[in-house]
Amino acid sequence: MLRLDSDVQFVKGVGPRRASLLGSRAIRTVEDLLLHVPKSYQDRANFVPLSSLTVGQDAAVRARVYRSRILKTRTRGGIFDVILTDGSSFVHVKWFHGAYLQPRDFSAGREIVLFGRVDFDRYDSKFVFFNPEFELLEESDDAISLDIGRYVPIYEELAGIKSRQFRRIVASALDDLSPEISDPLPDEILSTHGFPDLRTSLNRIHFPEPQDDLERLNQRRSPYHRRLIFEEFFLLELIYALRRVQSRAVSGVRFETTDRIRQQVKTILPFHPTSAQKRVLKEIVDDLKGPFPMIRLLQGDVGSGKTIVAFEAVVIAVENGYQAAIMAPTEILAEQHFINAKRILGPLAYRLGVVRRGIKKAEKQGLLEKIACGEIQVVIGTHALIEEHTVFNRLGLVIIDEQHRFGVMQRLQLIAKGENPNTLVMTATPIPRTLAMTLYGDLDLSVIDEMPPGRSAIRTIHATDRDAEQIYRTIETHLREGRQVYVVYPVIEESEKVDLKSATEGFKKLSEIFNGWRVALLHGRLKSEDKEATMKAFAGGDIHVLVSTTVIEVGVDVPNATVMLIEHAERFGLAQLHQLRGRVGRGAHQSLCILMTPSRLSDVARQRIHAMVSTTDGFRLAEVDLQLRGPGEVAGTRQSGMPEFRIANLLLDADLLSLAQKEAQRWVDRSDERESLIEALSARARLVTMG
Ligand code: ADP
Ligand code: MG
Repeated sequence: MLRLDSDVQFVKGVGPRRASLLGSRAIRTVEDLLLHVPKSYQDRANFVPLSSLTVGQDAAVRARVYRSRILKTRTRGGIFDVILTDGSSFVHVKWFHGAYLQPRDFSAGREIVLFGRVDFDRYDSKFVFFNPEFELLEESDDAISLDIGRYVPIYEELAGIKSRQFRRIVASALDDLSPEISDPLPDEILSTHGFPDLRTSLNRIHFPEPQDDLERLNQRRSPYHRRLIFEEFFLLELIYALRRVQSRAVSGVRFETTDRIRQQVKTILPFHPTSAQKRVLKEIVDDLKGPFPMIRLLQGDVGSGKTIVAFEAVVIAVENGYQAAIMAPTEILAEQHFINAKRILGPLAYRLGVVRRGIKKAEKQGLLEKIACGEIQVVIGTHALIEEHTVFNRLGLVIIDEQHRFGVMQRLQLIAKGENPNTLVMTATPIPRTLAMTLYGDLDLSVIDEMPPGRSAIRTIHATDRDAEQIYRTIETHLREGRQVYVVYPVIEESEKVDLKSATEGFKKLSEIFNGWRVALLHGRLKSEDKEATMKAFAGGDIHVLVSTTVIEVGVDVPNATVMLIEHAERFGLAQLHQLRGRVGRGAHQSLCILMTPSRLSDVARQRIHAMVSTTDGFRLAEVDLQLRGPGEVAGTRQSGMPEFRIANLLLDADLLSLAQKEAQRWVDRSDERESLIEALSARARLVTMG
């Protein structure tokens, strides 16, 4: 008897050699095998007689070879041309480039099943199937075999195993599978949602019965699909729900918000907050006042105004006598936060400090001491904040900006510097809500879904080198109006390996073209002081054209900059392009983003550029990104512990995901069930591959 966790090599028809091939495709156990579900299903219960075929119909036919031949063509392989008959009529079948087909397999009289769309061959004035799927029947097959007389599963070819063979392997696995496999889903959930049990689902997803709905099967929406997809989501969401419960089990730092503190928060505001900013602040304040540590993700598109919300939280922490730490992924961004903090928190006269790599040893030592004794109240920094020797006195609030640039571990390391401090992580990476829920399922989610008033939309254009002259003239116009410009290159220096324009070369060229304007170069290999000085000068308007690499990709905020020119835009991912574009359009002036590419582009690059030109909606772009790249590859998700699914698809199955999240929370909240859930989970946790 096989169990779900039996090694796949013990399935009849597999054996050690195939097992190792399957293993390389992540199929190691019987369960793995059974979760390789069919890519489609064919109705071979109801063969269409050849005499009643109609053009355009998707038909399964069962017939015998009448004649076969190879028609030579100029292209390689020729056309493999077969005439079939079932006694009622004849039909032509043509496989183009059919060199892989063996004429001897199609000897006259051989029985064959094929599936495809009926076409009309004008050349022959006959019905014809072009390149249909087919299977040759063995003489021993009879009408109730695996391959005919039923809805038949069609599998993706895997590890060299063809669909027909796969069908046999799966059938014998199901035959030999112990009847006592346990279902990880609680009965109550099964019955509430009308989900079939695990055993039934596995049987029927591979070998549907006549009463099953073929169309729903083919859309992956059969009850069996839905149940298995739900299960995948449910197990993941259970883990998240349990984590949430655990974090609620400790008591956190509890802040007060008196009238005086509320007044302080108001005094720092340089503008009227948007209603989204107000709503999000309220969510944060509710967390801060509550007995448990806050763990909240603040998501808001580039330029939506997350920083000020973070500073509001900082005020509450400091007024309560605690330290606040803000961690940013780049030195440039940390520096900018420091400058902003000085300006915005200025009226409150807090003691601030910035920790970064560049500072001198003695200075750093002094700084670290002041942090350790609590003298410095607001600490801003890069990864340097999580280094061992950074010790806090009373860390009550942790803010992580551009969270997607950090790993989960780094987040936890900073949190560990306090005693259950409140945590706010912020991201501008436009992750669709459904994806955010699974990516950051252990966090509560706040969304700023509104831009500050008075922004004019960014115009985005696609240009090639031939347009360069005209583009320089456009840039000149912006400069004359007093605006500033970013020009971004994919690499710092030219290299022999890749033929790309570089920031260093670009800087030389642009200095000549825009002589009379101040042009500066910024990249990651410069010394910290130089980077800082350049950024300050650009922010202050003393530099007009900033030639840069992607070091300015995230967070940088210079509202007077209105042109973003991206060289080799085809080299950047959508999320990255969107972030870069977000550096402009931050003030009231009309902004422009120019995507420069060579004239020849790959399909995917072309689609990315097209998406950028047609929308500035980060969430829409994230969805396009997901479609173009597949969920596993969304920027940075690999490192952030993005779960991978077997059957489920985050885009298509969003409804089941939110159902699973609700159910998981409900089950975890009913504390008496928790023990058995954890047990069930550990038995099946293998199912959920954490990145
Ligand atoms: P992000 O969410 O990308 O971090 P920032 O916090 O840097 O965005 O804000 C972008 C710009 O918008 C900044 O210049 C900021 O001062 C400005 N801003 C933010 N909120 C408002 C508001 N409510 N009204 C006007 N300007 C705002
Ligand atoms: Mg920001």
